[in-house]
Amino acid sequence: MIIRGESPLKVSAPEWDPTVVRLATNFWEEVTQGKAQFQIVDDPLQAHAVLKFAEIAEGFCAIYQTNNISRTGLVILTNISFRRQPASCSEARVIAHELGHTLIGLLGDTKGHTPTVYGDVMMVSAVALASSPVLREVANFIWSYPPGTPIID
Ligand SMILES: [Zn+2]
Repeated sequence: MIIRGESPLKVSAPEWDPTVVRLATNFWEEVTQGKAQFQIVDDPLQAHAVLKFAEIAEGFCAIYQTNNISRTGLVILTNISFRRQPASCSEARVIAHELGHTLIGLLGDTKGHTPTVYGDVMMVSAVALASSPVLREVANFIWSYPPGTPIID
């Protein structure tokens, strides 16, 4: 289920320079024309998404895990785990990609990805912190509804 999230979306990322995290959150704020707003918080328990380094993302730049889902289906705590290597896993781009899956609403391993020709941050192997017209359209569709609105069952 995809539910339009709360705003501001709170992100805890203690292992990153906040300016790197800001590049990713600014990207989504721009794509959604300010409908999605982010706040970087220190306390992981207060965050909608917790970003952390871990080796369990073997073979990928990152994976995400949802471990607490409220009765309404709203994801209230999401861990996003990152590999430190390879260096091609640009931190801002990877953070933006995983936030797209977890907080913006582009859920799923396959459904949440865009075709390679789109050249945007939600491609499986995204190379740019960029949005395609389709990605912009989908994100704005989800975020045009009030908080908590079920978008897709
Ligand atoms: Zn992905």
